[in-house]
Amino acid sequence: MSARLIDGKAIAGEIREEIRRGTRELAERGVTPGLAVVLVGDDPASQIYVRNKARACEELGFYSEVHRLPKETPQDELLELISRLNAKSEVHGILVQSPLPDHIREKAVIDAIAVHKDVDGFHPVNVGNLVIGDDALLSCTPAGIIEMLKRSGIPIAGRHAVVIGRSNIVGKPAAMLLLREHATVTVCHSKTADLPDVVRQADIVVAAVGRPKLVKADWIKPGAAVIDVGINRLPDGKLCGDVDFEAVREVAGWITPVPGGVGPMTITMLMANTLKAARRAAGLA
Ligand code: NAD
Repeated sequence: MSARLIDGKAIAGEIREEIRRGTRELAERGVTPGLAVVLVGDDPASQIYVRNKARACEELGFYSEVHRLPKETPQDELLELISRLNAKSEVHGILVQSPLPDHIREKAVIDAIAVHKDVDGFHPVNVGNLVIGDDALLSCTPAGIIEMLKRSGIPIAGRHAVVIGRSNIVGKPAAMLLLREHATVTVCHSKTADLPDVVRQADIVVAAVGRPKLVKADWIKPGAAVIDVGINRLPDGKLCGDVDFEAVREVAGWITPVPGGVGPMTITMLMANTLKAARRAAGLA
């Protein structure tokens, strides 16, 4: 039997409707959620991401500003801009697009963003609050994964979730969020011995590696939920995930496509974080 498709676009659309409602409620108090996006350099993919974020702001009635800086911008200048944005009341969320040029230390940039405006959820205080289970701005892709599971009616509590990949932006926070939802969590990475054998034990598989079609059908427990975070460009120009989609969909119970799965959720969760930051700034829970 073929797996049920988890439609990231449809779920993201549902969440955007909720964000619109929240935005209208804030408007009654004279507050418009505001997002500042900073791009250093001219990386073509980053330019597209930044444009999409500005467009999402426009669609949802947010205030947005985009700061495009030349790639040779000194780190101090970038930090000064962040400091000004930290102080600006119209801006509730700040996002500095990665990758950054080599001469800029990413950690210095993340640390400089005010914790309550860190809508990427990368600041050590937000990461720490995630780990101890306190309220935090959550990393967008992992937060999107949890929303997809919940809104598809996929049980998490008591299930074995296997996360493949341990990056700070996807793998680790995804594992922490699954743990917070009471899953039993295993984190795999490039040094994991016998990866297929570990994945075979999973009720929920989250693949966040960046290797096309790494996860094969015979790694999947029948009926498991498979969340494919990977975005890989094939030689023919097509996009594919980290999961061998056509074969795995015959074994899994649920599966996310690429594109149209996790991707649309990430930007939507960024908007949700910006609304959350604006609500907090307005004194709402
Ligand atoms: P990363 O390169 O920072 O981390 C990859 C992880 O995979 C590492 O922890 C590494 O240990 C692990 N790994 C590498 N080879 C492995 C192997 N053979 N077996 C097991 N583990 C292995 O990547 P990232 O930033 O976490 O992104 C992962 C993928 O997700 C990329 O394709 C990226 O483009 C995509 N991504 C998608 C979204 C989205 O919105 N859909 C968001 C972020 C990242």
